[in-house]
Amino acid sequence: MRSGGIFSSSMKPLSRRLWLQQGSALLALAFLGRTAARADETGTGVATPAGVPAQPIHRFRVGDFEASVLFSGFMEVKPQCPPEAAEAAFADALAALGQPASLLYPFNVLLLCRGTERILIDAGPAKTEGKPYHLLSSLAALGLAPDDITHVILTHAHFDHSGGLLDARRNPVFPRATHLCLPEEIDFWTSEQPDFSELRMDPKFLWPHARQVFARVPFVRIGTQAELPAGLTPILSPGHTPGHLTLRIESRGEVLHHISDLTHHAGLWLPHPEWSLASDSHPAQASRTRTAAFRALAASGERVFGFHLPFPALGRIATEGGTFRWLPEESQRTG
Ligand SMILES: [Zn+2]
Repeated sequence: MRSGGIFSSSMKPLSRRLWLQQGSALLALAFLGRTAARADETGTGVATPAGVPAQPIHRFRVGDFEASVLFSGFMEVKPQCPPEAAEAAFADALAALGQPASLLYPFNVLLLCRGTERILIDAGPAKTEGKPYHLLSSLAALGLAPDDITHVILTHAHFDHSGGLLDARRNPVFPRATHLCLPEEIDFWTSEQPDFSELRMDPKFLWPHARQVFARVPFVRIGTQAELPAGLTPILSPGHTPGHLTLRIESRGEVLHHISDLTHHAGLWLPHPEWSLASDSHPAQASRTRTAAFRALAASGERVFGFHLPFPALGRIATEGGTFRWLPEESQRTG
């Protein structure tokens, strides 16, 4: 069991969990042969470089929640062999994906509406005005203004998740919302000297932005100051960042797991959860968290949503040959 981030018994009871703690409990829920009913068996997370969906909003339900996936842009990244990977294995993985010159990481924001609650999970990157996938335009298409958002839950403070929280004048975009984040995430980015010793990218691309977000947006610390809306259970999933949060969403017996950045590409980090990303602040811990979460989700067969998976980013995780595979519910619609 890792140290740090595990809750001390002196803290107020928290409605959150750790993958590494709950894995055995979830494994006990036998996987009853339930596979993705509408799985695209060819889906590997491969997307074309021009992978913008023709329609940036996908609506569905989780029990009483009216949910919407809001496509909010993408990033193209040159494939780089992670230090944990044998070069031949990485070359094989890229070959299976068709030797892409770049990997596409989509950004998918989740909106949950129930009664008077309007809950955003992450806000995507900044500066998407004018794009067909601008977050505020998508909200407007659903009849929602920024003031209508009641809660923002931030999975972690990387710019692709939190950039949309500040406008061009660095003011909060959702001024009436309660903004929630795990204490470990706030404490990491706002400390005098965060530990970037294992980060394989320049922290200047991450730290100033995260500091600004926490300086300008009044965040509430989950668990110590506030609980989440009923049915939402945050799970501390550390390694990508120290306070990286995944979220279990349950209503009327239906479950959706928002796994945020446990994987950036279904064709690489599902079959190889042991591989790290340059943006993992603690790579070995990130790999342990990824593996534990994938194992639990494959065992439960529960529905999964991933911030960087191909839009609409809904599916299930299956085991395959001792590792994991993404079974998307719908093949990607691009245009
Ligand atoms: Zn991300």
